[in-house]
Formats: sequence, structure tokens, C-alpha cells
Amino acid sequence: MIKIHTVLCREGTMDNYAYILIDEATGISAVLDPSEAAPIIKKCSELAVTPAYILNTHHHFDHTEGNLELKERYGAQIVGAAKDAHRIPGIDITVEDGGNFKLGDSKAEIIAVPGHTTGHILWYFPDSKAVFTGDMLFNLCIGGLFEGSPQQMWKSVLIIKNLPDDTLFYPGHEYTAQGASFAKYNSPDNPELDKYIALAQQKLAAGQPVCPLPLKLEKQCNPYLRARTPEEFLQLF
Ligand SMILES: [Zn+2]
Repeated sequence: MIKIHTVLCREGTMDNYAYILIDEATGISAVLDPSEAAPIIKKCSELAVTPAYILNTHHHFDHTEGNLELKERYGAQIVGAAKDAHRIPGIDITVEDGGNFKLGDSKAEIIAVPGHTTGHILWYFPDSKAVFTGDMLFNLCIGGLFEGSPQQMWKSVLIIKNLPDDTLFYPGHEYTAQGASFAKYNSPDNPELDKYIALAQQKLAAGQPVCPLPLKLEKQCNPYLRARTPEEFLQLF
């Protein structure tokens, strides 16, 4: 099982989330998607952890810009998709779709979800019921299609929809407010969505991240996950 700490980075501009993951059995830890180093170093000091790994969901600078500084400081090894090896700064270990990565005693399954970028992966920890979705899935929306097609993203969305309902998801940005307007516009009469938005507003007002939330709620409320056919999905673009 992993313990997860959320770290807000690039606050007020891009509102990225990085995550510190600690394998409870061994104490071995990792940082996922360090968009900048400073807030992560601060949190690691508070927690008294020395990350052994840096995990990336995709190559974008606002997910990897802290890679080299943290690698240098902690001697951490950088892990990312083999497909992105040429554009992830400092990469040491590559992972592939369908492969695994062991963080101490906790196993991550690597799942390719092209669309936002061609090499984007999910880090899925089935035993901990946690999935790190980077810029593939946000609260009530999905990531922009920088490199892939809507058809590719539809297949990636189906993968997310097939993960268990009680999986908690951890996105790469705090974009709930934007997602909520779009979702409300698409389904004005969804009582589950109204509850979701009320909960999100409460958390944001308290200065807390909206996530983690269970995928069940996302499947009920996120317009892209609610689409039942490729045609319905494509209409959202
Ligand atoms: Zn991105």
C-alpha cells in the first residue's frame, strides 16, 4: 500500500499537482510529476523522506521541470514511458504499456493512454486503489489533444472507465472549476453532478485539493466519461 501526499506546484498560474508516494511496508518513496522542485523539497523535508524515484506521466515541462534538480539533490532515478525516453529530462528507467513498476512492495501497472500526448501513461496502483492520471483525466474534463486524435482519446477514456469504481484518481492539475462549468452546460439536470460541484466548492473554499475522488463519481458526472458511444464522445469536441 502507498501513502500519498499532494503538493500544489505553480500555484496560481498552472495549478499543477505533484504527488509524494511512500510505500508503507518499506518506506521507499517517489515523487510523481514534479513540475518544479521547491515545493516538493519543502514537503519532502517536512515528511523526512528522500525520494528514490521520480515518476512521470508524460513529457510536458509542467510535469518534468523539477526532474533534474530533484535527481541531483536526492540521487533519485527517473522513470517514464519508453516512448518518451527522448524527451523526458534525465530519464534512467523506461516502462512500457502493460508493464509493472515496483515501488518497494507496491506494484504499479503502467497503462498507455495516448491523446493528450502520444506517450502519456497512467500509473495505476491496484492494491492501493489509486490511479495517477496526469493530463489525461481531470475533474469533470479531460486533457487537451496536443498530439493525439479524439479517436485515440476515446480508447484511452474507455480504459479509465474500465478501472474499478472505488479507485481514487489523482490528476495533474486543479482544473475542477473549469470542468464544472463545462459539465453543467452539458448536463444541466444531473443531481450527482450538483452534489459533486457542491463538494468541490466546499473543498476549494477550504484551500484543499478537490481530489482524490472515486472514479465512480467521475463516471457519473464527467461528460467525456458519460459518453456511451464514440459518436457521443466526438460531439464534445
Ligand atoms: Zn501535459
